[in-house]
Amino acid sequence: MNGRISQQTIEAVKNASDIVDVVEQYVVLSKRSGNNRFGLCPFHREKTPSFSVSVTKQIFYCFGCHKGGDVINFIMNIERLDYVEAIRFLAQRAGIAVVTDSHPQARARREEQDMLTRINTDAARFFYAGLNDPVGRSARAYLKDRQIGANIQRKFGVGFARDSFDALHHHLTRLEYPLKLQMDAGLVRESRDGRPIDMFRNRLMFPIIDTRGRIIAFGGRLLEGVGPKYINSPETRLFSKNRNLYGLNFARKTRAGFLLLVEGYLDVLSVTQSGINCAVAPLGTALTRQQAEVMGKIVKKVVIAFDGDPSGRAATERAIDLIEERSIEAEVLMLPDGLDPDDFIRAEGGAAFVALIERRLPALDYRLEMARRSNERDGELDKVAYQEAALQVLLGEKNDILVELKLEQVAENLSLPLTAVRTEWGRRKALLRREEAGRAQSLPPPVRSFSEASFSRTPARAGDIPPPTDEDDGERESLSTDEVTDTELLFLAILAQVNVKPSEMNDPVRVEDFSAGQMRMIAAEVLALAEEEQLNQDQLIALSQDVDLAGGKLPELLARVFIVLPEPNELGDWGTDLQRYTWEMRRRQLQILKQGILNRMRTCPADEAAATAIQTELRKCTEEITTVSEQLASLRI
Ligand SMILES: [Zn+2]
Repeated sequence: MNGRISQQTIEAVKNASDIVDVVEQYVVLSKRSGNNRFGLCPFHREKTPSFSVSVTKQIFYCFGCHKGGDVINFIMNIERLDYVEAIRFLAQRAGIAVVTDSHPQARARREEQDMLTRINTDAARFFYAGLNDPVGRSARAYLKDRQIGANIQRKFGVGFARDSFDALHHHLTRLEYPLKLQMDAGLVRESRDGRPIDMFRNRLMFPIIDTRGRIIAFGGRLLEGVGPKYINSPETRLFSKNRNLYGLNFARKTRAGFLLLVEGYLDVLSVTQSGINCAVAPLGTALTRQQAEVMGKIVKKVVIAFDGDPSGRAATERAIDLIEERSIEAEVLMLPDGLDPDDFIRAEGGAAFVALIERRLPALDYRLEMARRSNERDGELDKVAYQEAALQVLLGEKNDILVELKLEQVAENLSLPLTAVRTEWGRRKALLRREEAGRAQSLPPPVRSFSEASFSRTPARAGDIPPPTDEDDGERESLSTDEVTDTELLFLAILAQVNVKPSEMNDPVRVEDFSAGQMRMIAAEVLALAEEEQLNQDQLIALSQDVDLAGGKLPELLARVFIVLPEPNELGDWGTDLQRYTWEMRRRQLQILKQGILNRMRTCPADEAAATAIQTELRKCTEEITTVSEQLASLRI
């Protein structure tokens, strides 16, 4: 990113891009009725509309998949662009020239990322030197055993973290990196007795490099001794393991037309060594939705080559779903039982692996093949079970022509006439339709009446926000543990609409009233803007762009609130609302504080002075909770 797009440009772009006009280029919206319009969500499959657009607030929100935000977020999601690209996209559409400037916050973030990149690069050099030093003998022996040659080691910067508690820490300190940065980068942590110690010890090290060529993290494989086999760097300002893939820095340049998705670091190395330059791997976890999204920006097809064991097959099933959800074509490489790509290449050679890739299967064929194999006993097909499994697979396929073709194949395997199999399939399809219709009828009333009837006249309360729970919820992937409450979201949303100075509240809100972590950082910026009377909904959403919380992305969480919030002129007594939210937030933070004090008391050494200090702290905290509770009670009279 060269400089940041100026605030004036962002405002001009937003003013020129009515969200309804923009959305209607992608989604058919219902006729105007009230301030919200509805349509079928373009981001998840659905039959009844849960995607809503607020004409007055210029916000969209999907009650099904929780995607939401302003017009820029909509373009980011639908065109798969980042924030800056989305603004440029809309600017071009509106014929607006883009002006960039250097925003202090953006600059600070860039500087922090630059520092993390530098320290990671120096750590990678240290690890690389370790591998080629006498201390790296065991690591070299391991690589030799895995037949990973020197060229590939160099290409991927493979290294070795010495079997020492602080070798890297001392090295980085000699290079004058402050301890805080060493810890922020996840290279050094504090031991139980408070000494700085290396995060990675006696491990083969794989630098994780992003698509811009920066070393953003490390994966380490234990060579011997106790501990988890693989560990990764923790999440940092530079690294989110949900959004990155190992090997993508090279694989993104492939001309193969697809990415080969393998399970581990060594698979990537080994596949690349056999001359295939499109291998990537998730970072020690199952594939995530964001990783599927990242791949979708580079290729239209992903070939999955996970282990041929039961857990590899389960991971394959899940990966197919995630990949197809992103409208990327999924194909599967079937490895012989129990082998991973690395095993296969060592046993059969690179040429055999290339030949295997040529025989990869489309996802549907793979699933049908698995249905056949899993119902074969000693070469005999259990026809009843196979028919059951195969029809189940085909019921999930949307393309009817494809289904027709595959039914022929199933009939052939069963030695049955096609008409018999087709009749059975039709019967099941009808059954499924009836079930779906039944389920739809038992659903609660459509969201439209919910969002409009319940909120148009009554002021919003924290409990009124639609809860972020439905079938999609369990799959949300966010590694952040930073929290935010509905009360905090409501407070920020109302503050952005009413333009009041926080200092003019009876009992002004404070940054510490917000949940610890990223919310406090955002709150500090938002409250400062509000104090200058510069805060509005657009500013709030723009500030929250990169904030990932335990419950989801902040812009989406805010959209969930904005979409149900009454219009600014119908907000009612918002002054009292803001005061109440402030006190509710404060009481919650005090209760968290009190819990912390109680925990410390339990583990406290029997030092009398310290014990007295904690007692005092506890009493003070309890008193404050009482005060806030009384203040809240006074509002209810
Ligand atoms: Zn949706």
